[in-house]
Amino acid sequence: LSVPSLPLNSGASIPQVGFGVFLIKPEDTQQAVEDALEVGYRHIDTATGYGNEAQVGAAVRASGIPREDVFVTTKLRNDHHAAGDVEGAFGRSLEALDLGYIDLYLIHWPMPKNDRYAETWRTLTGFTSDGRSRSIGVSNFKVPHLERIIAETGVTPAVNQVELHPTFQQRELRAFQAQHGIETEAWAPLGQGRYDIFNLAPITAAAGAHDVTSAQVVLRWHLQTGTIALPKSSSKDRMRENLDIAEFELTADEMAAIDALDEDTRLAADPDDINVD
Ligand code: NAD
Repeated sequence: LSVPSLPLNSGASIPQVGFGVFLIKPEDTQQAVEDALEVGYRHIDTATGYGNEAQVGAAVRASGIPREDVFVTTKLRNDHHAAGDVEGAFGRSLEALDLGYIDLYLIHWPMPKNDRYAETWRTLTGFTSDGRSRSIGVSNFKVPHLERIIAETGVTPAVNQVELHPTFQQRELRAFQAQHGIETEAWAPLGQGRYDIFNLAPITAAAGAHDVTSAQVVLRWHLQTGTIALPKSSSKDRMRENLDIAEFELTADEMAAIDALDEDTRLAADPDDINVD
């Protein structure tokens, strides 16, 4: 099983489907990531806030897969933005993962009310010069936040990881990012189980037409939309199902019908309202 990769502005390339480990308990994470690597995932998305970086690193090391063949992302926790804290937090992530380097280091949330994200971004720009992180990016940034960090530092993030699924498609943000060469990563790509995504008519119709599952249709829609999807599952069968999307293609009409599901409504909090957690 394999999915395409997209080039990043750092020169690295990122597999378009990654395995997300949010809410996987630390004690279950190593096995889950080993399973994901075994079924063919080569992109793992964790965060300091998920509390399972060490187990992600242990799984990658135990897999025997060459380090350069696995893309590992982690994220700066919200309570580590203070001046002087960012470097230390990054160092602890490097140590916990213990993989030599990080592929992609993200600011988890901008927390605009704290007004520190531009300085925090400036600190991240130092992490690529010696290769400790191959690429840097952000998460949950809105257009004004992106405009500000680019204007203040001259450095454009490689990716922005945001809530994105059929009823919240982030069109304006995606258009801005396409203009600036920022890749869009989708969290909650399957709607986090918070709405009946798998029974929406355009999705079940396409699933029937291609003899695949609704989840595969949604993930294929992400692929053809050009987003990087980060589905999460603890079940090995679903991990395999979620990666097995390279062998069929949605038609232009099927894509348009799913595009038309956009209600521009979030499931989760607006990033402007998130503060230190
Ligand atoms: P998701 O859309 O991947 O939903 C996960 C849910 O879908 C789980 O309940 C799972 O059982 C179910 N599911 C998975 N595959 C399925 C299938 N084939 N058929 C039926 N049900 C299936 O949402 P998520 O877990 O919130 O997000 C995925 C990843 O995104 C996380 O693990 C994390 O890495 C990342 N994330 C990032 C942020 C951020 O702020 N940057 C926030 C949330 C999540």
